[in-house]
Amino acid sequence: MPNYNIDAKRNMTYDAIVIGSGMSGGWAAKELCEAGLKTLVLERGRIMDPAKDFPNMHKEAWDYELRGSLTPEDKKKYYKNIRTGFIGEGNKHLYANDEENPYTEVKPFLWVRAHQMGGRSQLWGRQSYRWSEIDFEANARDGHGVDWPIRYKDLAPWYTHVEKFAGISGEALGLPQLPDSHFLPPMELNCVEKDIKQRIESNFPGRHMIIGRVAHLTVPHNGRGQCQSRNKCSLGCPYNAFFNSTTVTMPAAEATGNLTIRPYSIAHSIIYDEEQGKATGVRLIDSETGEMMEYFARIIFCNASTLSTTRILMNSTSSRFPDGLGNDSGELGHNLMDHTYRIGAMGTFEGHEDKYYKGRRPNGIYIPRYWNINEQTKSDKFVRGFGFQGGASRPGWGRGANEDSFGADFKASLISDPGPWEFFITGFAECLPYHDNKVTLDTDNLDKWGQPTLAIDCDWKENELALNAQIEVDAVEMLDKAGLQNIVGFNNHHEPGFGIHEMGTARMGRDPKTSVLNATNQVHAAKNVFVTDGACMTSNSCVNPSLTYMALTARAADHAISELKKQNL
Ligand SMILES: Cc1cc2nc3c(=O)[nH]c(=O)nc-3n(C[C@H](O)[C@H](O)[C@H](O)COP(=O)(O)OP(=O)(O)OC[C@H]3O[C@@H](n4cnc5c(N)ncnc54)[C@H](O)[C@@H]3O)c2cc1C
Ligand code: SF4
Repeated sequence: MPNYNIDAKRNMTYDAIVIGSGMSGGWAAKELCEAGLKTLVLERGRIMDPAKDFPNMHKEAWDYELRGSLTPEDKKKYYKNIRTGFIGEGNKHLYANDEENPYTEVKPFLWVRAHQMGGRSQLWGRQSYRWSEIDFEANARDGHGVDWPIRYKDLAPWYTHVEKFAGISGEALGLPQLPDSHFLPPMELNCVEKDIKQRIESNFPGRHMIIGRVAHLTVPHNGRGQCQSRNKCSLGCPYNAFFNSTTVTMPAAEATGNLTIRPYSIAHSIIYDEEQGKATGVRLIDSETGEMMEYFARIIFCNASTLSTTRILMNSTSSRFPDGLGNDSGELGHNLMDHTYRIGAMGTFEGHEDKYYKGRRPNGIYIPRYWNINEQTKSDKFVRGFGFQGGASRPGWGRGANEDSFGADFKASLISDPGPWEFFITGFAECLPYHDNKVTLDTDNLDKWGQPTLAIDCDWKENELALNAQIEVDAVEMLDKAGLQNIVGFNNHHEPGFGIHEMGTARMGRDPKTSVLNATNQVHAAKNVFVTDGACMTSNSCVNPSLTYMALTARAADHAISELKKQNL
């Protein structure tokens, strides 16, 4: 059992405090505890006990009272998160209650949150890609935003470090725009995907279609079991086969004996001591009693997730930092980014009707970025690029759900014929860091605990719209050349936030005048405060970001440990 600090007396002092126990917080806790630091993790939600808190792990669609649907009360409770289309009867308890956690959409923005131990690491799609040198150089090359203070070589060993522990399956390709990870064996493309891959790659030299790189164990690894392709990951995995914080990093931290978790603890602000010129602790609100308390530590890691971390920093005002901790540059809250998403094409595939992909595969295909990676691939319409995710499958009996028919014959026809092979690809495009895509503290609208909420003011601009247009054109063209039928291009015109890859608002940079954090994720003006979740990102690449948050967190923790040893913090 971990140490729980639920009723402990106030003014407790630790070596380190980590705010948030999700994807990045789990890594901070593990690395700091393993280095011998007595570490307090503040988590605003409940503790997740894998033995009790995944009651739907073994359920099938027909085991649910509402066959997976939400009640009208639930739809009200999750009225923002529900826009994702990912919430159902089985996993609703893993999404944050929107009624209790309001925010203002100055322009439409979907902020997806998970408020319990593990955060969104329990819900994620596990797609895991390294960023490349092209990504870290991008801002300096085309002049948008500020230059990253690090390059790929600075992060490469830390990618390896986290991959070796987490377990990432995939295929090595040697592409400069998508560096290879330290891989477990890849999953397999299905028969239709293999055909489409061959046709795309022969028609479009320089484009590749590969199996997705995922944080799933394709072989037993570090005491965890091999993935059985149940594809029920967010309901909990009996084999502990996908990477998440609840059952992988937090237990590793706990095993050291150095971890204390305080659940129901909403970090309110960071306490800054002007005389010492550094932070000394964290003020929190006990979400059950409403009590405000203070905990102290030598270093503080902010891992509450991009916008929650920035909210805490903005709330941390003092005479030294009247506009929020570390906000000398005025950039805190600015340069919010996400990936554009749900633009692409779909079609049907003729052939392989004798084959039915049995079982499930918790993964799809990936087409790495191919625009603007060298002089030959330079676009005159946009900077940066996009990659595609997707896959081929047969719809099965579910395709009958919306048909006006019934009876035994109808059901038998749906089961005897799984329907045509369908293939789709959807792009994820990079968004530039714009100063006026921002969040501000909304002191007129308070949450249940009396804290200012966030007003989010963010939209796509010319470059993102040009990328989106190209995504649809390219998707249709690739499916056409791959011989698909009934091709339909789509652009769902989704607002930012739908990508669930929100980044920026406390960016890293070389110059304290234009950035909030330095090259090792320390607040420039309060070096014992580290921000290693998505808030720290200086640009947003077009690949999924969580692996990069993990690597940045492990790297920053290593720096913190060595600076503590030298008594520099
Ligand atoms: C459906 C879905 C699919 C996704 N797929 C992918 C994917 O395939 N690949 C990928 O790279 N990413 C994916 N993501 C995104 C990924 O989940 C996030 O990037 C990642 O979880 C962010 O890690 P984090 O540590 O910043 O925040 P989180 O994992 O969200 O954790 C934040 C934690 O902080 C806690 N917290 C918040 N505020 C406070 C506070 N004030 N005080 C104390 N605690 C607080 C929360 O309760 C939570 O536990 C997906 C997300 C979703 C929802
Ligand atoms: S797909 Fe793999 S990781 Fe997901 S629940 Fe099934 S066995 Fe576990």
